[in-house]
Amino acid sequence: MNFHILTLFPDMVMDGLNTSIIGRAVNAGLLSIEAVNIRDYAFNKHQSVDDYPYGGGAGMLMQAEPVYLAYKAVADKIASGQYGAGDHAAEGELPEKSAPGKRPRVVYLSPQGDVFDQKMAEELAQEEDLILLCGHYEGIDERVLEEIVTDYVSIGDYVLTGGELPAMVMVDAISRLVPGVLHNDVSAEFESFQDNLLEYPQYSRPEEWHGKKVPPVLLSGHHANIEKWRREQSILRTYERRPDLFEKCELTEKERKWLEEELRALN
Ligand code: SAM
Repeated sequence: MNFHILTLFPDMVMDGLNTSIIGRAVNAGLLSIEAVNIRDYAFNKHQSVDDYPYGGGAGMLMQAEPVYLAYKAVADKIASGQYGAGDHAAEGELPEKSAPGKRPRVVYLSPQGDVFDQKMAEELAQEEDLILLCGHYEGIDERVLEEIVTDYVSIGDYVLTGGELPAMVMVDAISRLVPGVLHNDVSAEFESFQDNLLEYPQYSRPEEWHGKKVPPVLLSGHHANIEKWRREQSILRTYERRPDLFEKCELTEKERKWLEEELRALN
């Protein structure tokens, strides 16, 4: 999978993503991450990327043209197959907006977008190429957004100074779903948010720490009992910590009864 991050701060993005698991996956050729400096496409007289908003108001706005040219440079490279991304439009041709699989998806990181979650990460992990557009200052001229953006994504209901951290969050969450990126692909399968449940508590050595013992079932070697215990702990934890998720998860009648009894015993 190829990530293309359009940003005014390429070093920030690359420094953050070239480490640990994601860095190793890049070195192994499972992912490619490039940060494209939008400033390199500011071909106006003063090489500026921002200007005052029409109609007044605080702050500066990123201008349409440098953003568009940075996007076009990446889209053309994708179209020419330079990233090994498979079935794309002919060289030099801007891929069709309406043709799925031909025009790369362009995510504009914005507090006004759909809130990013695991389901969205799973869906985006199917893409061969993903362009992430980071705004700065007061954002980006609306006209270029209308022309190139396919998805508006927020990482939460708060306002950051730029789209770089959100882009890094997205690259990290999506990358670990790309086959081979985690050493053990199974570890991505049983994590929080699968089936709208949070992950169960986990323990490592020693068996006793600060007087607290590892739950005996985990030492039993009985896989069916361990699975059952983990599922129950996931249910309890989700009920206690994320009632919004709990409402969406599907439990068997037996599990519902178990939870009722457990809650009664706890109170
Ligand atoms: N004036 C914009 C508004 O009210 O919607 C906010 C601009 S913000 C100061 C600058 C940039 O940071 C945005 O263009 C966006 O790329 C990024 N950003 C800020 N908060 C974000 C969030 N919660 N999720 C994703 N991107 C965010």
